[in-house]
Amino acid sequence: MNKILKVLVINTLLFVSLIFSFQNNISYGQSNKIDELISITKKEENFNKRINDLDYILKKNIENRSSDKNMKSSLLERRINIDSLKYSQIKFFKMYFERQLFNCKKSEILLIKEIKEEREEALESSNVTYIKGRWPLENYRYISSGYGYRTHPITKKLNFHNGIDIPAPKNTSVIASDDGIVIFAGYKNGYGNVVEIEHFDNKKTLYAHNNSIVVNEGQVVKRGQVIAKVGSTGDSTGNHVHFEVKINNKRINPLYGISNDL
Ligand SMILES: [Zn+2]
Repeated sequence: MNKILKVLVINTLLFVSLIFSFQNNISYGQSNKIDELISITKKEENFNKRINDLDYILKKNIENRSSDKNMKSSLLERRINIDSLKYSQIKFFKMYFERQLFNCKKSEILLIKEIKEEREEALESSNVTYIKGRWPLENYRYISSGYGYRTHPITKKLNFHNGIDIPAPKNTSVIASDDGIVIFAGYKNGYGNVVEIEHFDNKKTLYAHNNSIVVNEGQVVKRGQVIAKVGSTGDSTGNHVHFEVKINNKRINPLYGISNDL
């Protein structure tokens, strides 16, 4: 009985400290909405990690208990009793984290809606359909191949070039043209290592042939943030960024989608 009481007291203290440690992280209204969104998605990642860890412990616990079933000593029975207490404790923490994750998701959806509404209002008041992003490289402006029909550098056949090619040395930082959410980060045939971002207006941008990618799918990125390093992966004949812009899922000449200033 004493042991149970001890465990309960420890549990309660742990739980209270947990609540405080997480509530202190949430600060609304002070920072920029994109920063808030970034902090919420980071918290979600953290909760997901904890839930996975606890899941692993729960699974291990069940395995251990079923393998101990045949042994019946009083000592073992006492151990199993404590185990079952721990088991419910872990389950309780898991439920707590799942609840927190659910709340984070709710605020994330709400925040994205608010950001989109804000942008929409800004677009309407200036009578344009999308926000111009910034140039995807800091110091390299030369376009080696423009948007439109061209002879493909590898197949030598006439084809439509969906983007613009901007040469730059290997591992130059590729930057996000505007605030948004990474919807693809990985290898795609032809494109090589490619990042695609969905922005909060009606715009999507794509950055291909990277040597490496430094963001993950689902990550919220800010305008100007480094997302990849220049390379020559996929169908490419040299280090460059192939950059595409879509408005309402239709490709446009990227030059209309970015401004020359930062
Ligand atoms: Zn290209």
